[in-house]
Amino acid sequence: MSEQIPLSDAASAIDPAQDDHGQAVEIALGVAYQRLLMVNVVLINPAGAGDREWVLVDAGLIGTASSIKRAAAHRFGDGSRPAAIVLTHGHFDHVGALKTLAEEWDVPIYAHPLEAPYLDGRSSYPPGDPSVGGGLMAALSRFYPRGPIDVSGRLRLLSETGRIPELPEWRWIHTPGHSVGHVSLWREADRTLIAGDAFVTTGQESAYAVATQRAEMHGPPAYYTTDWGAAEASVKRLADLEPEVVATGHGEPMRGPEMRAALRQLADRFAEIAVPKDGRYVREPATTANGLAYR
Ligand SMILES: [Zn+2]
Ligand SMILES: [Zn+2]
Repeated sequence: MSEQIPLSDAASAIDPAQDDHGQAVEIALGVAYQRLLMVNVVLINPAGAGDREWVLVDAGLIGTASSIKRAAAHRFGDGSRPAAIVLTHGHFDHVGALKTLAEEWDVPIYAHPLEAPYLDGRSSYPPGDPSVGGGLMAALSRFYPRGPIDVSGRLRLLSETGRIPELPEWRWIHTPGHSVGHVSLWREADRTLIAGDAFVTTGQESAYAVATQRAEMHGPPAYYTTDWGAAEASVKRLADLEPEVVATGHGEPMRGPEMRAALRQLADRFAEIAVPKDGRYVREPATTANGLAYR
């Protein structure tokens, strides 16, 4: 069974020992995160919610479909399908199992309009920048898909209202910088934030930190971040929300005042803490038009 961590828990990092070997761990009411190989997915809605009564956020690395399905079956019952998959962004480590799962579950996929070109076969992402210390991204390069994925038949563009029909308690927030159409998910009622890769709680540039998933506050993974100015504005916007709980695409979920202070510090000293000393996108952001990348 997944365990709910009390909201009053003073610890700001949620104990990795709670990670029940591949099962999803509850971090806020009806919000569970599952740690896969180096990347997290989030399952939204209370355990036992039932078929078509829950939502998957992001879809891991290639090869993780069965692991995600196992966690979903454990939480929602055998054969239980989500009502939708919502993507924070379309980088390969968040869409690896997307096609397999979406087809098997027959579900819509929500993404920001500016992320659509990377999900409907039109465009590859701007190239990564290995000069900023590739770390995780470089280490995983053998898993990179060769071209953009195409899930256009199931793709639904997030509406400007900030609402997602299948997630009535939540709003999406555009948090570009790491990718042009990156979004975060926010539940005001208990100040729960799903931040994707807008910032992360593990040092992506350090293999050790990735392996141990130590909770630390970091900027977005540098290798793929293509607009550092936008990334800074996005982190400031998220820090201003003063979240109670955050789940990020990489690293452990965190909660409470220590997390908020660390996030505030990241926002206030973003250039110093998060931005690489040099790199192609540090000098000049990647150029995109309607999300289409120009190399
Ligand atoms: Zn990413
Ligand atoms: Zn990622």
